[in-house]
Parts: sequence; C-alpha cells; structure tokens
Amino acid sequence: MEELKHYVNGEYVAGTTGRFSDVFNPATGEVQAKVPLASKAEVDAIVAKAAEAQVGWGATNPQRRARVIMKFGALINEHMDELAELVSKEHGKTLPDARGDVQRGLEVVEVCMGAPSLLKGEYMNDGGPGIDLYSMRQPLGVVAGITPFNFPAMIPLWKMAPSIAAGNAMILKPSERCPSTALRLAELFKEAGLPDGVLQVVNGDKEAVDAILDNDTVQAVGFVGSTPIAHYIYHRAAENGKRAQCFGGAKNHMIIMPDADLDKAADALVGAGFGAAGERCMAISVAVPVGQETADALIERLIPRVEKLKVGPYTSEEDVDYGPVITAAAKERITGLIDSGVAQGADLKIDGRGFSLQGYEDGYFIGPSLFDNVTPDMDIYKEEIFGPVLSTVRTDSYAEALDLVMKNEYGNGTSIFTADGDTARDFANKVNVGMVGINFPIPVPLSYFSFGGWKKSAFGDLNQYGADAFRFYTKTKTVTARWFSGIKEGSEFNFKQMD
Ligand code: NAD
Repeated sequence: MEELKHYVNGEYVAGTTGRFSDVFNPATGEVQAKVPLASKAEVDAIVAKAAEAQVGWGATNPQRRARVIMKFGALINEHMDELAELVSKEHGKTLPDARGDVQRGLEVVEVCMGAPSLLKGEYMNDGGPGIDLYSMRQPLGVVAGITPFNFPAMIPLWKMAPSIAAGNAMILKPSERCPSTALRLAELFKEAGLPDGVLQVVNGDKEAVDAILDNDTVQAVGFVGSTPIAHYIYHRAAENGKRAQCFGGAKNHMIIMPDADLDKAADALVGAGFGAAGERCMAISVAVPVGQETADALIERLIPRVEKLKVGPYTSEEDVDYGPVITAAAKERITGLIDSGVAQGADLKIDGRGFSLQGYEDGYFIGPSLFDNVTPDMDIYKEEIFGPVLSTVRTDSYAEALDLVMKNEYGNGTSIFTADGDTARDFANKVNVGMVGINFPIPVPLSYFSFGGWKKSAFGDLNQYGADAFRFYTKTKTVTARWFSGIKEGSEFNFKQMD
C-alpha cells in the first residue's frame, strides 16, 4: 500500500498525525494508496517555511520568474502522458480526457510565461504640476489554493501558476481523493528551477483547510469545489481578513431552439452531459428544448446516442466514452437521485442504475441515464447531480427557456443552440450566467480570458486565470511623487486638487 506524503521545501515529508484518507481506484473499488491528513500544527509550520521562501522569490525579477514558468511548461509537456496516467489512475477518467485536463492547465501556465506584461502597473506623467503618479502590483505573500477532485491537474495549475508567477508562495491543498498529480507537478516545478518552499503541497481534510483559513500569514485563498463548502470557506476567510475567491457547483442548461441543427445539438449534449461521467462543473446537465416538436425530435436523436455510450476503466483496450464516478458514496447519491426522479414523476427514458461491468463489479460505474419531462420542482432539477444523468425540461418558448436559466440558483455555464444570430445575441446579453456558449456546449474560456460563474457558482470577486488571476494574487500600491525644484515654498493645508 503506497503511503503518500506532503511536499514541503522541495522534498517529500511523511505526515505525522497518523490520520490518513484512503485513495481508491474507482474502477475496482480497491484502496490504492493512503494520503496523510495534516494537522493545524503541520499546516502552520509549512506556511511559516513558505513565508521565508517567498521573500527571495517575490524579490526575483518577473522575467526570471517567467523563465521558471517556461521551463515548468516544457516539463509538463514532456511528462504529459505520465501526468495523464496519474489523473486517470485516481480519478478514473479516460486517458484522452485526462490529457485534456493537463492541457487546459498547461495553457494557463503558458499565459503565465507573460507574467511581466501582466504585472505592469500604470503611470501618469504630470498628473499635477511636477507630479507623477504610478501604481505597481506587488505579491500578497503566502496564498493558498484548495482544489476539488474532478480536475486533478487543471485546477491545481490554475492556482499555482498565476500566484507563483506573480511572486507569491503557494500552499496547495489538493483533493484528498486525487492528490498524486498535484504532488508530481510540484516536483516538476522544482525541476524547472522553483526555489524550495515557494510551492508547498499539503494534504488534508477539513482540519488542514481550517488551519489554512485561520493562519494569519496566509493572505488569500482560491477555492474550487462544491457550493456549500465554497460558501463556508468564503465566509471564514473573510472573517479572518483574507482575500477569497470561492468557486462552487453548477447546474448548466443548454437551450435548443427549433431552428437548431438537432443532430449537432444531440451530439453536443451527449458529450457535454456524459463526458467524464458528468463530473465536470461545466457539464451540461439540463437540456431545454423549445417547443414540443423540438423536444420530441431531440429525444429521438438522443436515445440512440446515449444507448451507444461505452463505459469502462481507463485501462480498457477498447475506446470508452467515460469511466467510473469517484466514490461508492457518489455512486449511491447519484442512483438515489435517479430513484427520486422516477418517484417524482419524471420520464426515465434510459436507466443507468443497474449497470455492471464484468471484472469490475466493485467499481463505481454507472450507466448513462436520460430523463424527459423533468420539472423545476424535482430534486433531479434542483440538485447538482454530478453524474452521468441528463435531464430534459421542455419549454414552449424562448422566453420561458431563458426564464428557467435565469431563475436557477447556479450560474456557472450555459449554452444555446440556434441558427438565429439575433436570438443568440439576446441570450448572451441577458442571461445571468458567467460563461455562455453559442452552438458550443462547454464554453470554458481559453486561458487568456478568464473562468468564473455567477450566482451560487462563485463567491468573492475576480475570475480564475487570465489577467484577473494576476489582479487576485497581487495588491496595488500607488505612488504620488514630486521632486522639489521650481515648486513654491511652504506648507499646503488643503486636500490637494490637481490644477
Ligand atoms: P468538495 O467541496 O467536496 O471539496 C473541495 C475541496 O474542499 C477539497 O480539497 C476538500 O478536501 C475540501 N473540503 C471538503 N469538505 C470540506 C469541509 N467541510 N471543510 C473544509 N474543506 C473541505 O468538492 P469536490 O467533490 O472535490 O468537487 C466537486 C465539486 O466542485 C462540484 O460541486 C463541482 O461543480 C465543483 N467544481 C466547481 C468548479 C468551478 O470552477 N466552479 C470547478 C470544478 C469543480
């Protein structure tokens, strides 16, 4: 049984608490490793070491820091297959999807290679007579990232690359379900030239997270996970005077207009609904056809596509479309929600509950499920299922479909499939959701834009990656300066107004 460790000051350090969490192989249900759960004392000691390391790193000029980021990017590329394997081994997603997980993180690393440009401040020459003003962006010091299980490479990279490029030290607390990828990334960062202590990976559960939130040295917390925990972390971090951005869960709708290409819409729905077993915060979990005819034609196209989906382990020799869900508890929760959908009157067109795979009977596999005639009062509509379940809510008009999306408490992503530019434009302008796709099912913005939801999908300010990340991980200092030549003598008593 492999015993994982923390990564502190450039080396692996065993946990000292004697508390561990099991890391499962979701395809077999076997425990493949145990991960140590840090105590408050361990976290505090790790943060103190990070604070020492940050002084030199923060003083390193941005271009030199960017060179380390460049090397890190090259190493991620070199180790792409190894990293993808680590992701799949603990998460269960297919290897091509795991490569995508690494790739979308790498793209953020690539943007961080341009950190010097993103860190430039502003300058105003002669803002007043002989007076110049300039602002600079300075690192916060020690910051923290707390990440979920579902993107073991991408989201840790979204946290570590911008914060470190901006001159901070980062304490990364990866998900205890999939910790190995973040640990390996920390090794690669060291190999790229990152000084020891600037990136510390501490494993743990609520105790470690609370220790981070209560530690006075930690200046900012970037969290990604479920909405209740995001809200809790936002609250506790703010109470302790920290900057916090906390990204939560989602319920993403796709509107299908009567003029949409229904074959393309059905293909998009199946990929976005069932890819990664639906365990994506940008998965489409609700299809919203407009008009009964559209709905009937869509369901007719969805059924054969969903029935064809292949479910299996990432090690399968055949092509599989998606793998197991993350834990036995997740499997039970998802099948329980499917039960509730049936009990509450939704029309279960395809039932994934009894799915079993020969040789993997103890794995956490669930077949794909497709619901029709779901209504907004049902639990399968209200809850984030985070599994391979697609619900269809029928609407009679575009206005009703838009209203449905607007009234949903989540606002991460949404999409519209239509041939009409005017409707698409209206939707993009009006909808109260952070990321919008037009004939595009999973509109995760590219790395030089930024990622963030609205409503209960995000608490705090500024998005992840892009220029926003550099704003989040730096503070602005503004200098007003003049030099005393040709300036009249004597004190000034009025609040200075620029002439
Ligand atoms: P989670 O909330 O259970 O865990 C996320 C992190 O919080 C983990 O590191 C975990 O150790 C920690 N944590 C868990 N319980 C805690 C507690 N009581 N106190 C303090 N810390 C705690 O989320 P998950 O199951 O790992 O991830 C899935 C969720 O993440 C889904 O809701 C999904 O939508 C969301 N997600 C959101 C985004 C986004 O950008 N909005 C991206 C990916 C995933």
